Amino acid sequence: MAKLTKLDDIVSLCKRRGFIFQSSEIYGGLASCYDYGPLGVELKRNVREAWWKSVVKMRDDVVGLDCSILMHPMVWKSSGHADKFADLVTVCKKCNARTRVDHLKDHAEEHTEHVPIETAQVDAQNLSKKVCPGCGKIGQFGEPMAFKLMFETQMGANADDTMSLWLRPETAQGIFANFKNVLDSTRVKVPFGIAQIGKSFRNEVTTKAFIFRTREFEQAEIEFFCEPGTDEQWYEHWKEKRFAWYIDHGIDPENLRFRDHDPDELAHYAKACVDVEYKFPFGSGDWQELEGVANRTDFDLRQHQRGMRSINDWYENDRDLTKITLKEEAEDYHKGPLSYFDEQKKERYIPYVIEPSAGIDRSTLAFLVDAYDEEEVKGETRNLLRFHPALAPTKVAVFPLVKKHGMPEIATKICDDLKKSITCFYDQKGAIGRRYRRQDEAGTPYCITVDGQTSEDNTVTVRDRDSMDQERIAVDQIKAYMRDKLDM
Ligand code: ATP
Repeated sequence: MAKLTKLDDIVSLCKRRGFIFQSSEIYGGLASCYDYGPLGVELKRNVREAWWKSVVKMRDDVVGLDCSILMHPMVWKSSGHADKFADLVTVCKKCNARTRVDHLKDHAEEHTEHVPIETAQVDAQNLSKKVCPGCGKIGQFGEPMAFKLMFETQMGANADDTMSLWLRPETAQGIFANFKNVLDSTRVKVPFGIAQIGKSFRNEVTTKAFIFRTREFEQAEIEFFCEPGTDEQWYEHWKEKRFAWYIDHGIDPENLRFRDHDPDELAHYAKACVDVEYKFPFGSGDWQELEGVANRTDFDLRQHQRGMRSINDWYENDRDLTKITLKEEAEDYHKGPLSYFDEQKKERYIPYVIEPSAGIDRSTLAFLVDAYDEEEVKGETRNLLRFHPALAPTKVAVFPLVKKHGMPEIATKICDDLKKSITCFYDQKGAIGRRYRRQDEAGTPYCITVDGQTSEDNTVTVRDRDSMDQERIAVDQIKAYMRDKLDM
């Protein structure tokens, strides 16, 4: 069932229940930076874990990696980020709001679908029909300017030997830089993938909507290396797998769709790109990118090969490596240091790459929004998060009905026992109904209650979050019951 949840309700629940806080709030906050509280940190860990499980643990053809955030500046030179990673921005002459040119919408399309515009050669005249999201004025924009997206920092203690470095704007390049290390140290054979989860940093022009777009965020990326010619088939494979992952973890299929990039929207090296979009409840209910799946051809490995060859040259001439011509590149580039030798075919080539690139924070927001629900129960509003059990921060809560007759002791024992394998929470404070409601709001799938009957027949009640149905089960069956219900 599609529902329109207000983002304000999510933000307020997140703060009230300790999912997400504004960063540095005691000092007035730091724009677009957020901290995950006790429930949020568990939720985010579970999102990460679910991704890792599906792309690394459950497959035989993907291995993991964890690279450092700071990397040699040549990495960003070769990838093209040092010269090109910028957004085109414009300032509204009426209200001074700064907006990304590709985020502006035409007056007529304001409430229709997001149509990105070609930003490469835009001038103020091209923006005559665009609406300022700040004040609503049409076509009142200054000349677009490039805005560098990478954060710079210094490495080294002494003023004369410090080196400028960038905080990585994506995790992908660490994977390409380690392609050879992984090949040489494992038994992987093409086709195979390398997966990584980690923080990335972008000095975004406009941040928006809570944790949707922040300047520090976590990415989950796979670079899947395959033989040229098989790339289209692997592209379809990953499209399907990644779309299914969101549905399998509870996203309503009505709120998820693909959006293929138009040919003029594609990066020059990409053969195809599709966004998995989620219907986020911003503004009038907008489809927004959750993840991109791209066919990046052999561009990245070739770029790093060029970088390896021209490292001294670059330091001297500060060249844009993406502009090196085929003639300047060695003619036998496909036999270069980042090439792959196919033992069976006795052939060397630079693999093509399919890249599914997701955001952990952005998907966490989508899971929160999709799980959020309100319903009337006996004249009262029940707020709940219908999380998939794999994502729920707490899987089980255990309560004694009252704080006497030995019930707390039995409940504590059950909880301690479950904690060895399941995230479990003990609560003995307040009326039982209120305790159930608190767990509904935290998204806990099951509540176990020890009551007067427990000491007589060794049974407890188990309450289901979504249906609120209760059933009695034997204490010695709890573990097996939970394992079955939580699919562990
Ligand atoms: P956008 O067009 O929204 O800026 P993008 O196309 O630049 O995104 P990619 O470079 O493809 O994004 O990054 C892959 C994924 O990383 C995105 O689909 C998103 O989930 C996540 N991501 C990118 N930028 C941010 C950000 N500033 N805050 C949170 N998540 C982000």
